[in-house]
Amino acid sequence: MDIQFYNTLTHKREPFAPIDPPHVYMYNCGPTVYDFAHIGNFRAFVFADVLRRFLELAGYEVHQVMNLTDVGHMTDDQVADGGGEDKMQVAARRLKEAKKSGKLTAGDVTNPDDPYQVARFYINAFIEDARALGLKIASDPPNGSNIPLNMPRATDHVGKMMKLILQLVENRHAYVGSDGAVYYDVQSFPDYGKLSGNTLDRLRTGAGGRIDDQHQAVKKHPADFLLWKPDKSHIMKWESPWGVGYPGWHIECSAMAMELTGRETLDIHTGGEDNIFPHHECEIAQSCGATGKPSFSRFWMHTRFLLVEGEKMSKSKGNFFTVRDLIAKGVDPAVIRFELLKAHYRSNMNFTMKGLEDSASAVRRLREAAAQFEKAGGQAPTSVSHPVIDDFLAALADDLNVSGALGVVFKWLGEVHDDPAQSLAVLRRVDSVLNVLRVSPSAAGSGDDNTAELCKSLDAARASKDFAAADRIRKELQDAGYEVLTSKTAGTTVRRKLI
Ligand SMILES: [Zn+2]
Repeated sequence: MDIQFYNTLTHKREPFAPIDPPHVYMYNCGPTVYDFAHIGNFRAFVFADVLRRFLELAGYEVHQVMNLTDVGHMTDDQVADGGGEDKMQVAARRLKEAKKSGKLTAGDVTNPDDPYQVARFYINAFIEDARALGLKIASDPPNGSNIPLNMPRATDHVGKMMKLILQLVENRHAYVGSDGAVYYDVQSFPDYGKLSGNTLDRLRTGAGGRIDDQHQAVKKHPADFLLWKPDKSHIMKWESPWGVGYPGWHIECSAMAMELTGRETLDIHTGGEDNIFPHHECEIAQSCGATGKPSFSRFWMHTRFLLVEGEKMSKSKGNFFTVRDLIAKGVDPAVIRFELLKAHYRSNMNFTMKGLEDSASAVRRLREAAAQFEKAGGQAPTSVSHPVIDDFLAALADDLNVSGALGVVFKWLGEVHDDPAQSLAVLRRVDSVLNVLRVSPSAAGSGDDNTAELCKSLDAARASKDFAAADRIRKELQDAGYEVLTSKTAGTTVRRKLI
């Protein structure tokens, strides 16, 4: 199959072929765990999941790693090395306030001053959300600690980060500044700027890049970035050859990507577009500087920003949604997943309530079709080849054209299906990528024995004109998460509310 992906590194579409087929080694920059992940964060994670599932359907074996950034980095890391306040401290303060006001119900943060407890609280929340949205990586068998094997915590890999820094010092890509911190020497790496376009020339003239003047005196070049910061007072700290302190943000991903995949050159590295600079630019400089390899990842793929009702999401505007906010409002997680995956990853996505309703209709249509095929055809064969699967794959092979792929599926659903067993098998193959048919175990669709009994009682109450009883039963069904439908022929039926 001819797969083409847009590569941020080369600024063009390129044929995709892994280095060691059928294996594909993919690293996704995961969440910082100082807060609940919002839907913008999850857009990038759902994208990575769809990418993985597509490659698997196309016959590849994908080794996916997504990190959890639990080292307490600084609020100004994007613009200044070690500047601002420690993010874990900010999170601890927030949890303390939540505890005081009784908002924090999770009993696992007994001491908000312990940064490991704070991180653990948000890691658990993230994994719960990721599982609700059907991310495959989050459903890997747990290693006894509830954290999937391929979701490494940065605090568990500081040793590997130190090794990389030592290697960089040895290779003369890093030096100890006059303040005692270890910095990467960007002038030692001619490819710096290739990914983002922020070359040293452009950075020097201030065009397009953000550089930090504050540390100019101690660094060789203003764009040199932090690898290790000695700081005895930091909330999380480790012994190192450069004194007690903590690692820079970027070195985490280089270390964990290489350690967990066992590769010095990856096939695919993903993240949000805000990761391109400085984070991914720095990851490339560090990794190639340490290994001497010409490339850290063959493909770099980035999702664009998510807007809400046409505006940038912000807490002050009140248009800021976490996944758990939406689930608490009664939105089925599969609907959130569908909404996040349906727009092309390289266009800004506009998250709207109308869009969410459309996604709910689409998920319902897919689930109803699966239920109908199941009813008419029994068990689906385990393997099937079908032009719809070929067309679905061909659309996704075109730089993950999800809307094209969905178009194929919905057009086919509208056609006559005279082999329901085969149709069910096709739908299940398609759903191995979409993963919305049974992403939520509580969303089975049309209820169970108990709801069927209640529907019968409602019809009986109405027939005997006991409207008070009918209202009571209707309310009971609605409270259990169902829409109550009435038809002259079938009487009362229910269907699970998706939104
Ligand atoms: Zn990263």
